Amino acid sequence: MSLTESYRDKTFTIMDPDARIRTPADLMSFERYTKDAELPPRAVLGDFKRIPRNTQIKVDQIKIVPTGSTESIVFAHALTADGTARYGWTSTRNFLGKFVNETLGSVPPPAGEDRKGPNAAWIAGKFSRQLTLVKIVDVKLEIERIAEDTLAPYLAMVEAGTAAGVEVAINSGFRSYPEQQRLYDGFIKGVPGFNMAAKPGRSQHQNGIAFDIAVAGGKGNPTYDWLTTNAPALGFIRTVNGEPWHWEYDLTKAAVAVAANTFKTSNVVA
Ligand SMILES: [Zn+2]
Repeated sequence: MSLTESYRDKTFTIMDPDARIRTPADLMSFERYTKDAELPPRAVLGDFKRIPRNTQIKVDQIKIVPTGSTESIVFAHALTADGTARYGWTSTRNFLGKFVNETLGSVPPPAGEDRKGPNAAWIAGKFSRQLTLVKIVDVKLEIERIAEDTLAPYLAMVEAGTAAGVEVAINSGFRSYPEQQRLYDGFIKGVPGFNMAAKPGRSQHQNGIAFDIAVAGGKGNPTYDWLTTNAPALGFIRTVNGEPWHWEYDLTKAAVAVAANTFKTSNVVA
C-alpha cells in the first residue's frame, strides 16, 4: 500500500444510510434511477442512486472539490469489494471513519526557489529548505499537509492509537509562510477565532515537525492521556506551554523525554 495515497485499492465500509452516487461530470449533483433494469429492491424510477449501508467498497481514485477557502469534499470512485464492478462516485463522508488520516498524494516543491512558497520550510526566522509535503485528511475533514519525512512516524502513531482504542487526528500540520502570516495578523488584530500565533518564519508548523492533535482540553481526554504515555516512544513530544494539542516529531527530544519518564520538554508546565 502507498503511504502517500493510502486510500488506493483499500476497502472501506459505507456507514451513511443515504450514501448517494454522484454524477461524474458534476460531483455536486446526484444520479437517479432512469431504467427499470437498474432498480434495486424497494426503489422506484427517479429515486437517488445509493450505495447501501454496510456495503464494503474498494476505492481506485479520488477527486477533491473545493467548497470554500479551506474547505473541500473528497469524493471517491467506489468499486465492489472484489474490484470487478463499479458503484460510481460518492462522498468519503459516507464512509466509516470519514477518511480521517487518509493520505491524498504528495506535493513536491514547485520549480524555482520561492522562499515564501507553499513548500518552503522556515526555522527560527530563516528559510530552511523546500519540503515534499503530503496531503492528509484532518479531524474536521479538511485537507492538511505534513512533511513527507514525518509521515511514516505519524501514521505509526495513528495505528498504535487505533489499536489502543483512541483516535489520533490533526487539526493543523505544515503551514506555509503566507498561512502563518495570516494567522499572526489575525492574532495581532484580535480577529475572533484567531489564537496566539508565532511570527511568520518562527512557527514550528513551518518547520515541518509540528502537529496540532485533536485532544479537546488535554488532561482527561482519552487521546491526550494516551499520548502522554505513548507518544515519546514513537518520537513525538509536547513542547509548547499551555498548548496540550501541540506535539512535535523530534527524535532527540523524545529520547530525552523517554529517559526522563516524561512526555514534554521542561518549559511545559501546563
Ligand atoms: Zn501547534
